[in-house]
Amino acid sequence: MKMLLNGQWVDRDDKIDVIDPFDNSVIDTVPSANNADVETALSAAVKGFEISKRMSVYDRAQILYKAAQIISSRLEEFATIIAREGSKTINEARKEAGRCVNTMTCSAEESKRILGETIPWDSFPGGEKRRGFYYRFPIGVVLAITPFNDPLNLVAHKLGPAIAAGNSVILKPATVTPLSAIKLVEALVEAGLPPQVIQCITGIGSKIGDPLVSDERVRMVSFTGGVEAGKHIAGKAGIKKIGMELGSDSPVIVWKDADLKLAVESCVSGSFWAAGQNCIGVQRLLVHKDIYDEFKTQFVELTKKYKIGDKLKEDTDMGPMITENEAKRVEKWVKEASDKGAKVLTGGGRKGALVEPTVLENVPADATIHYEEVFGPTVNLYPVDDLDKAIAEANSLPYGLLAAIFTRDVEVAFKAAYELDCGGVMINDSTDYRLDSMPFGGVKYSGLGREGLKFSLQEMTEPKVVCFNLPGI
Ligand code: NAP
Repeated sequence: MKMLLNGQWVDRDDKIDVIDPFDNSVIDTVPSANNADVETALSAAVKGFEISKRMSVYDRAQILYKAAQIISSRLEEFATIIAREGSKTINEARKEAGRCVNTMTCSAEESKRILGETIPWDSFPGGEKRRGFYYRFPIGVVLAITPFNDPLNLVAHKLGPAIAAGNSVILKPATVTPLSAIKLVEALVEAGLPPQVIQCITGIGSKIGDPLVSDERVRMVSFTGGVEAGKHIAGKAGIKKIGMELGSDSPVIVWKDADLKLAVESCVSGSFWAAGQNCIGVQRLLVHKDIYDEFKTQFVELTKKYKIGDKLKEDTDMGPMITENEAKRVEKWVKEASDKGAKVLTGGGRKGALVEPTVLENVPADATIHYEEVFGPTVNLYPVDDLDKAIAEANSLPYGLLAAIFTRDVEVAFKAAYELDCGGVMINDSTDYRLDSMPFGGVKYSGLGREGLKFSLQEMTEPKVVCFNLPGI
């Protein structure tokens, strides 16, 4: 596939192979952008903004609705690309493509609700006879940098609101999964988006990232990815807006009065969705000691039923990790934990990029898999007997995206909701529950700002005040 620069689909001799991690076959190639391409993207995006900021809200909304229709009518095609270039099974990929339709539709709807307010100028002496208000204006060129794990919908979470707001966008998708992103850009152009409004540049982040991020023509960097890249980008960005959707180590408390079947089923799914490569994937399960043994037995039993393998087969529950190197990293972390005294209750094995769904207990605090985001198909069980201690344990690590608690006790639920230090608390769902239109983001190392269409639109627009001095009134 090609990249889109200055209204043209272009290729380069220097190409990047896009590989299916299940069988290592080359699915396609994309151009590896060079510094001249970065400059083309930047200068074209500035011109694109001159077009996008003058487009009516009606036109922007119609384009987004049409793009949603295009994706919906080719859902299987989109799902197959997601499944082939990434880790998701075809069933997981279909869900992602369906969510992308919703993300684009909600972006269209939210474009009509970019509202301002009147300002009571006479609320302080000296402001009499003034009337005025503020609009929310597009911010300018938005640089969208996206990760591999939701290669379509997380791109839509940036392109949808950026276009809804009237911005121009430079998209740099993850190098391992650029195809779904390019297909989305194609759908937008087919839906009528002037191609100058969107630049899609493919290339290695460590090579083309700095000149894009640090350029003063970019007015906002909207980044989703890991903490390390996030810190680097924050250091390079200079004076511009930054949105950061970073990693986590999602804690889930299972209290003694929990609906056990519900908790087991949601947490198994939440642990192993997309082979655990999910920013809200369950990593730490803090289970009340009164139900710990029963929960553990049922959890391990269900995990053992997971079918892993070919992503395109309808009955596969979990596919491979994104690369064999990533799978080796997870294998190493499991071994390190087990060498330090953790017990592997099931899983632990690896073949190529396939890692068995793995459940651990007795994981010591100095094991990497305890305190770092694992981003793989492993989960740790910890017994707890005191709510304050469970909440303190959940809050003990430097992340805070989503947390969850299973309980039937409304007081326990409210206490957890109030005291868990994170961007959202799910009650009787695992952390792996997200509505695309809810405010989504984290505290601490999990990020800065919020996504979720209406909330992304706030981040991607700026208030502009208009004040009339009307001495004659
Ligand atoms: P990553 O390695 O940080 O890469 C994310 C994106 O950043 C890629 O497009 C990457 O390009 C680019 N990048 C890397 N270094 C860069 C630099 N110096 N300058 C500019 N861009 C740079 O993350 P990933 O492995 O794709 O994704 C996994 C991480 O994303 C996990 O930590 C996960 O928790 C997080 N995540 C967070 C959310 C959320 O909403 N909070 C959602 C999904 C994922 P290349 O591909 O070319 O390296």
